[in-house]
Amino acid sequence: SKLFQARFATTVNDTHCLPAAPLREVAFAGRSNAGKSSAINVLCNQKRLAFASKTPGRTQHINYFGLFSKDELLAYLVDLPGYGYAAVNHETKYHWNTLLSDYLQEREQLVGMILIVDSRRGLTDLDEQMIQWFVPTGKSIHVLLSKCDKLNKSECKHALEAVRKQLQQYDPALPDGTGESKQLTAQLFSSTKRIGLEEADNLIIKWLFE
Ligand code: GDP
Repeated sequence: SKLFQARFATTVNDTHCLPAAPLREVAFAGRSNAGKSSAINVLCNQKRLAFASKTPGRTQHINYFGLFSKDELLAYLVDLPGYGYAAVNHETKYHWNTLLSDYLQEREQLVGMILIVDSRRGLTDLDEQMIQWFVPTGKSIHVLLSKCDKLNKSECKHALEAVRKQLQQYDPALPDGTGESKQLTAQLFSSTKRIGLEEADNLIIKWLFE
């Protein structure tokens, strides 16, 4: 981002161990391989920041990055564990469910969720699970339709329209499931081609600092 510098802060796998500081935070969620680490790295202007979450043994952890201006810690960017691995056991699934549902439903410092969704694939069941946990808090959800460089112009347009339509269904302010949602929004994004960077950046800054 233009405004802040990000540095790794801490990693936790229990919601009782989350940072106590009364600072706002934005969480990044997504299916594994959707492009979450790439998005965090490009938004923070760093090459390898978010790959800490890929270290074996840390894939079930919540990783905190401090956002600094000069040397002042202003807010946190939170990297949630990626989901959707085919080969996870029952225990791992249970841990993931508890960690994520507790975090999303109860974390006061959390102001909004950025959901990374592969633009070629659209929302998956587990993405919808994340939305269902978070919508009742009334906080914002913004979908980054990632890897949009792999789609042509009309495919991009259709992918965006389709996800917006799905998101409307979850907005309690749109009881008949139609109209423009303010709580659930979406945009096209590409880390490699740097598409949609400014739009995402501006939104995150607005959530954190307005
Ligand atoms: P994560 O598991 O969600 O953190 O996903 P990664 O950021 O590690 O990305 C998964 C794969 O998708 C990697 O091979 C990336 O190089 C690729 N990838 C990520 N972002 C983009 C993008 O914007 N465009 C393209 N073409 N590939 C991408």
